Amino acid sequence: MEVFSKMDDDVKLTTKDERTLFGIPASPGVAHGQVFRFLHEEVEVLNYEVKKEDHPQEIARFKDALRVTHNQIQEVREGVAKNLGEKEAGIFDAHLMVLEDKALIDDVENEIKTTGDNVEQCLHRVSQKYYDYFNQLEDVYLRERASDLKDISRRLTRNLIGATGAGTAFLEDPRVLVSEDLTPSDTASLDRSKILAIATETGGQTSHAVIMARASGVPAVVGVRSLTEGLGKGDSLLVDGFEGLVVVNPSETTLFRYGRVGVRRKKLKSLVEEDAKEPALTKDGQPFQLFANADSPEEVKAGIESACEGVGLFRTEALFLRKNEMPTEEVQFLHYRELVEAANPLSVTIRTLDLGGDKVLNQGEREQENNPFMGFRAIRYCLQNPETFLVQLRAILKASAFGKVKVMFPMISGVGEVIRAKVLLERAKKELKEQSEDFDESIDVGCMIETPSAVTICDLLAREVDFFSVGTNDLVQYLLAVDRVNNQIAYLYEPHHPAVIRSLEQVSRVAKETGKPITVCGEIAGDPHFLPILLGLGFDHLSCAPPLLQELKFFGRRFTYEECRELVNEILTMGRPVHIKERLKEFYDLRVADLLA
Ligand code: PEP
Ligand code: MG
Repeated sequence: MEVFSKMDDDVKLTTKDERTLFGIPASPGVAHGQVFRFLHEEVEVLNYEVKKEDHPQEIARFKDALRVTHNQIQEVREGVAKNLGEKEAGIFDAHLMVLEDKALIDDVENEIKTTGDNVEQCLHRVSQKYYDYFNQLEDVYLRERASDLKDISRRLTRNLIGATGAGTAFLEDPRVLVSEDLTPSDTASLDRSKILAIATETGGQTSHAVIMARASGVPAVVGVRSLTEGLGKGDSLLVDGFEGLVVVNPSETTLFRYGRVGVRRKKLKSLVEEDAKEPALTKDGQPFQLFANADSPEEVKAGIESACEGVGLFRTEALFLRKNEMPTEEVQFLHYRELVEAANPLSVTIRTLDLGGDKVLNQGEREQENNPFMGFRAIRYCLQNPETFLVQLRAILKASAFGKVKVMFPMISGVGEVIRAKVLLERAKKELKEQSEDFDESIDVGCMIETPSAVTICDLLAREVDFFSVGTNDLVQYLLAVDRVNNQIAYLYEPHHPAVIRSLEQVSRVAKETGKPITVCGEIAGDPHFLPILLGLGFDHLSCAPPLLQELKFFGRRFTYEECRELVNEILTMGRPVHIKERLKEFYDLRVADLLA
């Protein structure tokens, strides 16, 4: 993935005041340029009556528009497959499915027959109904599908009335695209050579437009509130996709600072690539092991290509969310087998279902919870739904016949949960034996340490499991009582908090005393700034997203274990997260800055 992109030197500096706005970092890189306000060409939806005898003709018009739209999207899909790859092109399969959706097509036809209104109006009403439904769902992934639907219905309407879409073809020079929202087909129809960066008011890190921006190396920041207010021709914008901020009309000083950041990122990238084949050893020759976090067999393959030593965390819920239902034992088994075979002979740690919190299936059918992250989630859900859990355990066990598999339970808060989960695991084994299925009888069993109670009792948990994995994403939120998805209190979500560092120290010590292997698999494991403390605290197994593996190893090769331990001793005396963060940055800069000069 391209992590740095161009700064546009030709942008004229304005004398307007600089303004910094914060959003969500969605695609890494920094770029600066004149603003291009991307406006959706909203077409007016006409409303007129159609005589009963003309209904078949109106329905034929609809079918025609469906066919034309299908062909257009198919064409966009092929273009994306050629330029970005099959995975990114798959985004348009959801659009094609909407166009083939029988329920939606029948609804529009019935609307024409029962109301006698023209097809544009009927399509508008029906798609609005579907849109409203998806848009109120809690699940972020499904909510983002509402924008797919809007995108498709806009395109259908344009085709019905013969209008063309908005684009970037008329732009003479590259610009920073600013929009309230951006759909996947907007992104696909943009001319990449004309887009320096993207900034939007809405959107999340999993929205498809963002996935495509990331895949094509265009820096992007989303969720920037009030971004478009008062922004227009003549304004320039700097987009920092690393930090998730945009600077409106940046001053010369800001641009100078960012220009230097850009050059350094590029240099770092080439140094990291030079080191790609080197072993993961600290400067004094101590090994550390890097594993991949993945939620699809493709990510497992990407991790293996980046020379990881196995899969440290396979999140199984992604399959469930993609299907929005409980996959059958066979579907799960084939999925797990594919990833186990992709990783073979390296090991794969498969985490059992972690639904709940922000990952919810069939929202409409589930009871609303006041505190979803503290509620009916992960192992709690599985233990209350043993049949669902057994299906998954059998599928995991069957996959263990095809490579080295470990099984891990999420969100453990007490010993009883591990014991009950293990009883079910034994039952799953017994059932498979009765069916003469092959599996690894002595499969390793581990648990996540991601609740404060698990930290406190990890010596007791150690009696029940073969290994631990520390989930700092959740541990930070539970330890600091800061909801990890609440924007209003995001400033309090501090992985550098001394409470987090002390908890890590405690867990590492107990793991050592009890002889249990331990990995860190939360996001901090992929942050190079954290690496010296994690190594200094005794965590030498780290698992992170595949694109981060190489840079992590590069940095790990530039200091000694002794330096890590000294750093830890110093950090443990510090009271404020901001100071700890600064100290880690200083440690990092000291070892990397010279190389980038
Ligand atoms: C964690 O909590 O750190 C973790 C790895 O799990 P998830 O992000 O899936 O909750
Ligand atoms: Mg977690």
